[in-house]
Amino acid sequence: MFWRGELIARTAPVRQRIGTSHATCVNRGMAAYLGLAIGDALGATVEFLTPNEIRHQIGVHREITGGGWLRLKAGQVTDDTTMSLALGDAILAKGAIQAQATAEAFTAWMRAKPVDIGNTVRRNLIHFRQTGNPEAPASEHDAGNGAAMRVLPVALACYGQPEKTSILANRAQAHVTHHNPLSDAACETLILMVQDFLAGRDAVAVERERAGRLVSEFPVFSYDRRRCDNPSGFIVDTVQAVFQSFFATETFEDCLIEVVNRGGDADTTGAIAGMLAGARYGLASIPGRWLAILDERISARCLAQVSPLLALGEPTREARQI
Ligand code: MN
Ligand code: MN
Repeated sequence: MFWRGELIARTAPVRQRIGTSHATCVNRGMAAYLGLAIGDALGATVEFLTPNEIRHQIGVHREITGGGWLRLKAGQVTDDTTMSLALGDAILAKGAIQAQATAEAFTAWMRAKPVDIGNTVRRNLIHFRQTGNPEAPASEHDAGNGAAMRVLPVALACYGQPEKTSILANRAQAHVTHHNPLSDAACETLILMVQDFLAGRDAVAVERERAGRLVSEFPVFSYDRRRCDNPSGFIVDTVQAVFQSFFATETFEDCLIEVVNRGGDADTTGAIAGMLAGARYGLASIPGRWLAILDERISARCLAQVSPLLALGEPTREARQI
């Protein structure tokens, strides 16, 4: 069974990689990780503000200045990035995506007193400490965006593998804190989208296939009607704000500015939109002023994970030699 065990089946048939060279794929993976961190750092300044409050206080929010309710330094990131890094480290330490190792990594992350932590994450990590069970109880209410904000290491580690591998691997990490069908559906969609962009697929096809499938299976996610301003931490709000911003813009910068100026859970919508936009547009698209101000220790950790995570999804050495 895949559910709690070794989730990267190295012997599984490898989905054919199309479109891009390995170097391009690494470039887009790096841009996705830096995009996640930049969106987090940019959005955190305006987290929990409404679009009107942002307009009044800042005008258009387009610079990484820190501050916000967490009183961050400019370039500092929050849980969205640091939980992703903790998950990536746990995957690399095991060479696989395991629920137990993920739960232990998140618990260590929580002990280190992160600048912020979601309620559902905290509650279910305490549940893990008390029970030793790395899978949170299934809950209709745990439909927050806390599992979706940290899917990038899964997308990288399972790149090139069959879709099913990504889906099962994601559940191992996601269910440590969020055991909910809407959260799962959003996580899986985001992972497959990142992988599509790493493989060089164009946004029209990705929207039709991935976002289209999500909306047809779970119509609550439909994002073509009302504009989602002031998105809450509910995964449906998050996905709607991100998709409306991501599919309606044509550059990395425009996408991030569009999404964070909607306010609400702006560090998380920024992080997810930044991940998608990085994967879609690549490193050269990221504004230099944002890269320069991002906390150097964070950008170094993001960059260092990309190649080793991608290598996990590659065919085995024996298979490559054939
Ligand atoms: Mn955060
Ligand atoms: Mn947030």
